[in-house]
Amino acid sequence: MKQSHLFTKTRREAPKDEVSKNAQLLIRAGYIHKEMAGAYDFLPLGLRVLNKIVGIIREEMLKIGGEEVYMTALQDRAKWEMTDRWDVKKVDIWFKTKLQNDTELGLGFTHEEPITSILKDHIRSYKDLPRAVFQFQNKFRNETRAKSGILRGREFLMKDLYSFNIDEKTHEEYYEAAKMAYKIIYDRLGIGGDTYVTFALGGTFSKYSHEFQTLCEAGEDVIYVDEAKKLAVKKEVLNDEVLKDLGLKREDLKERKAIEVGNIFNLGTKFSSALGLNYKDEKGESKPVIMGCYGIGPSRVMGTIAEVWSDEKGLVWPESVAPFGVHLIVLNSADSKVKDAADLLYRSLTSKGVEVLYDDRDCSAGEKFGDADLIGIPWRYVISEKTLASDSVEVKDRKTGTVTMKKISSL
Ligand code: ATP
Ligand code: MG
Repeated sequence: MKQSHLFTKTRREAPKDEVSKNAQLLIRAGYIHKEMAGAYDFLPLGLRVLNKIVGIIREEMLKIGGEEVYMTALQDRAKWEMTDRWDVKKVDIWFKTKLQNDTELGLGFTHEEPITSILKDHIRSYKDLPRAVFQFQNKFRNETRAKSGILRGREFLMKDLYSFNIDEKTHEEYYEAAKMAYKIIYDRLGIGGDTYVTFALGGTFSKYSHEFQTLCEAGEDVIYVDEAKKLAVKKEVLNDEVLKDLGLKREDLKERKAIEVGNIFNLGTKFSSALGLNYKDEKGESKPVIMGCYGIGPSRVMGTIAEVWSDEKGLVWPESVAPFGVHLIVLNSADSKVKDAADLLYRSLTSKGVEVLYDDRDCSAGEKFGDADLIGIPWRYVISEKTLASDSVEVKDRKTGTVTMKKISSL
């Protein structure tokens, strides 16, 4: 893509009311726009990053047998009354709205109730199980605090997968496979090194749930980390009994702030019993389906990467999620010889499948370099009269700052 084609501009200052680092950087670099607190728009560069994150998560969900759907955000009150989750005294983050005839509707903050009722139409016997169904969908939550940029949106993208099994044993196997898939996802997203499987409250059906927590000062959660074992415990569940149970020692744990980038949970029969999702076993006996839920917020993940992978100059995207692989900069674009060489290199890289943002704008070198650092594409290629003298481009690694000269013919 030619940068002259991009409608977004970078800016020196973030909006005054924006206090979070992720949103400040992403707004300044033109990835997102702030509509109001907790509500952000994804602009062309931002949407490219978000789609790459979604792509990685989708691939791993398909590998563990997930079938993708896309569900409506509008929620039917009756279903949520069956699980006692309609009342705002039970769930305080609901956004609710009304039809013209005054019928109340909710905007989904999660989808256990509707997915359970969908499966009810399709699951009859043990032969129809196991199943795993997932979607990428916007959730609505009337969060009290929305000061963390895209880490905590009032509308945000979630990948939610739900699993359906005949018994605890097969559920546990799937749960472990999902946990492995999550580890792979965070590795591929470039935050695996800082992300810990964290023991959290488990609810009625299991001792613990598991959260994936990325170490970061901007995080709202406090966790206790065993670096050697690569495990952590959420502050809420830390006590002597839990430490013994997990084979951890208090003196090995460090208190750290972290961002919850994912969460997996054994739902047991809570939703299947309440909504009547049963199957017939081999003896023809009716039993409730065992369910699990597995969430990741791709938009929160994008904010987390921006927090973790950035420096004083701007963003430093891991290659797997960067909006482009190469930021090609032409200096002195008025010089037709240099401009022609840059155009040719742009076309040749693009034809090889390299995703290139080509800074063809007529502005100063300083401005172009500043923007490249802020936008944070992994590789910066500079082509100028000087580099052309040796048929080369200057290649800079955004992460390490290392600069080398490379022959154009070798690219
Ligand atoms: P938190 O404890 O941070 O409020 P949660 O436990 O309510 O999150 P879940 O209901 O488990 O979150 O949602 C699944 C995933 O969706 C979370 O792990 C997180 O990645 C993401 N997520 C949750 N709330 C938000 C939000 N307000 N904005 C962006 N992403 C979110
Ligand atoms: Mg949580």
